Amino acid sequence: MKRVYLDNNATTHVDPRLLDLYISCTFTTFGNPSSIHAHGQEAKALLIKARDDIARLIGARSQEIVFTATATEALNMLLRGFFGSAPSGHLITSSAEHAAVYSTAQYLESQGLDVTYLNVGPWGAATTEQVEAAIRPDTRLICLMAANNETGVLTDISAIADKARAHNIPFIVDGVALFGKQAFTLHPGVSAICFSGHKFYTPKGAAFAYVQKGLKLQPHLTGGHQEHGLRAGTENLASIATMAQGACYVTQELLMFQEPMRALRDYFEQQLMQKHPTVTINGQGPRIANTSNLCFQDVDGEALLMYLDLHGVAASLGSACSSGAIEPSRVLINMGLTRKQALASLRFSLSRYTTKEDIDHTLHVMYKYLEQVR
Ligand code: PLP
Repeated sequence: MKRVYLDNNATTHVDPRLLDLYISCTFTTFGNPSSIHAHGQEAKALLIKARDDIARLIGARSQEIVFTATATEALNMLLRGFFGSAPSGHLITSSAEHAAVYSTAQYLESQGLDVTYLNVGPWGAATTEQVEAAIRPDTRLICLMAANNETGVLTDISAIADKARAHNIPFIVDGVALFGKQAFTLHPGVSAICFSGHKFYTPKGAAFAYVQKGLKLQPHLTGGHQEHGLRAGTENLASIATMAQGACYVTQELLMFQEPMRALRDYFEQQLMQKHPTVTINGQGPRIANTSNLCFQDVDGEALLMYLDLHGVAASLGSACSSGAIEPSRVLINMGLTRKQALASLRFSLSRYTTKEDIDHTLHVMYKYLEQVR
């Protein structure tokens, strides 16, 4: 049976070019980068190279790059580290954030922080005007995602960074869904941003945050002096080194696959909506190239997802982190969909490896299902 993987916002295939580096970092350069002997120094040299490469790639300084295991960890480090153990003042975020931000904001709220959760509505992302209107004299931080992982809708990070800067308010960005799908330049009004390796064709176990010089954070993990004292613990060198190499590949090659990926995504939507005009796209705002979140109106989304899976097509209902649960997506509900519409919605997320044959197979399977139930 042909298998098609259209759940790349959950995680991606690893770029096969990274295999040798991953193996050599695991079995040959196995030393602890903190050790002073040759094994340690070889590992340290690779760690320094990874940090330098990533810093150069995003236009930051090496001292501003912090490695973590996941973006969830990086976002916890940034948010909890910013507010410390007795959170006070006001945070602006949105109701469409990934759980890594949303649940952390809720936790900080339970500890005394005042939080504004902006509604994104049918557009699908918080707007600059909404952010500006929410700013108060006690606003200490703005935290928003660059692109939504469920719908792909982009937030105007540059315009919001301008406002944040004008008001002298630090701005933390969840860049996870953006990296590798859209060109990215570091705006001086962005105080911190994080990305996750397994979302851009590198192995799990490594993510990184840019933390602008001067942004004060409490240490996330105390112990050794690793990661500028913010995140103690022996580094996962194989995942970090391959993430850095993969970040270079995906950035250098973005122009090669971004538009073909967008064209395939658009072809998929057009074909489907032509044959089934009741199908609608969730999210009115501009989107990253790979994501399609579609509402099938009267269809049971979970049943469709299962049918696709049985026919070799992997898609997703809501975000991956909540798949398996039958609750409708919080993001779609916040965008104004009814519970029924949210439960009738599926996310298809393409990768640089997705082919037209993959999309045609998916369309073929979907047509068969939709004809059966309608
Ligand atoms: N932020 C967004 C937008 C995501 O899509 C995800 C993962 O799906 C995360 C954060 C968390 O990333 P990680 O899996 O590295 O913890």
